[in-house]
Amino acid sequence: MIPMIHQLSIAGLQEKLARREVSAKEATEACLSQIKRVDSEIHAFISYDESDALRQAADADKLLAQGNLAGHPLLGVPIAIKDVLSVKGHPLNCCSKILGKFVSPYDATVIARLRKAGAIIFGRLNMDEFAMGSSTENSAFGTTRNPWDTSRIPGGSSGGSAAAVAADECFAALGSDTGGSIRQPAALCGCVGVKPTYGRVSRFGLVAFASSLDQIGPFTKTVKDSALLLETISGQDSHDSTSVPQPVPQYTRNLEGGIKGLKLGIAKEYMVGGLDPEVNNLVQKAIRQLESLGAEIVEVSLPHTDYAVATYYIVATAEASSNLARFDGIRYGARQDGADPMELYSNTRGLGFGPEVKRRIILGTYVLSSGYYDAYYLRAQKVRTLIRNDFLNAFQKVDAIITPTTPTPAFKVGEKSDDPLKMYLSDIFTISCNLAGIPGISLPCGFTSNPKLPVGLQILGQPFGEETMLRIAHTYEQANSWHLERALK
Ligand code: GLN
Repeated sequence: MIPMIHQLSIAGLQEKLARREVSAKEATEACLSQIKRVDSEIHAFISYDESDALRQAADADKLLAQGNLAGHPLLGVPIAIKDVLSVKGHPLNCCSKILGKFVSPYDATVIARLRKAGAIIFGRLNMDEFAMGSSTENSAFGTTRNPWDTSRIPGGSSGGSAAAVAADECFAALGSDTGGSIRQPAALCGCVGVKPTYGRVSRFGLVAFASSLDQIGPFTKTVKDSALLLETISGQDSHDSTSVPQPVPQYTRNLEGGIKGLKLGIAKEYMVGGLDPEVNNLVQKAIRQLESLGAEIVEVSLPHTDYAVATYYIVATAEASSNLARFDGIRYGARQDGADPMELYSNTRGLGFGPEVKRRIILGTYVLSSGYYDAYYLRAQKVRTLIRNDFLNAFQKVDAIITPTTPTPAFKVGEKSDDPLKMYLSDIFTISCNLAGIPGISLPCGFTSNPKLPVGLQILGQPFGEETMLRIAHTYEQANSWHLERALK
């Protein structure tokens, strides 16, 4: 079947743009009409500015007409943005009520880099409030639905980003990943999602959730498209002192060449109870296939895996409680008046934050409070080091580690929303990567049978080992055709 414009990958669209068979305007219109056709049901977007998108498309078409493609590797490609990144002149809500009518005064560095590459930046994508959640049910703007089965969640917190790509409403999207928020929804919606090494991508213009864990990354339909986005947004930035002055490889140039001789680790602690049998089956099949493609499979041990969820929910909530202190009704967005400043803060925060955000702030304040700091926060930081060391030890033996991305396929809307602990446990395979600061990718490795739901394979790379990680992912992807299946006809 010949794909329609909106169903194309970035690479597929670019061929057509270069041959002048499709214009940037047509590509943008294809996204906009798909949104109009399906988004009332999917609800991936909380808003979009049609005329702004078309204006950018007209600019791109001028450059395309001049044949001016050099230096613009994303010319004319519409890319949608999670509502946690600043896009100058556009609303920024983090899907919370507390930001009111706040408008971003500047572009995030990743946005500036995409623009420079010629991309068309459009739309605000739904997410769990302040990126806290695994299902996009914690959004103040309503729940996003999984395009493969709209009775199910798309994952979270970047559920809008994953659903929009899976439903072909944009060619790619950006999201943020603090504990799995790119990889988990990518897995549950059947697309590719990358969390880069901590420090690889500037966080300037990303609203902070847990600053020592947050990274921005791409959602795409193929590994190659992710490689292209990643090489565009990566690199040191004087606005973010945690961005690393390490040269950015041309990831797209190094995808071929196969995986012969690479050593891939299987962590015995990840193949545990609670893993859905169909997920397990598909991941095992993928591992055997990687072996037949020439990789050597090696068992590794990550002995502190059991402590990852607890450690994450101490470190992340502690940082969140401090980061979210700035939303006080004075500096940003919505304000509820009060008789004195204390009452104003408390009214504003009481009404502005949703229940999950309040839970995190309370937990985080508790673990940082005197008397509990040593028992919880300090200990969690020590365990975090042990978790990172587990990975560094494993990487002495292997080039990358293969795991499932999630223990189960997408669950039903409402299934876990009353039980935070159950929800937190669905992050079990994704959060260690953030604690260790290493890169991770999720890509489709098949579908469950009934209902047909996508399953994700996770590849964890060495620090700044994105190049090898992407090559493994690309090699696996190209040996299969999972990425060609579309959720919507
Ligand atoms: N689900 C995790 C949480 O709720 C991860 C969120 C994220 O990566 N932003 O904290």
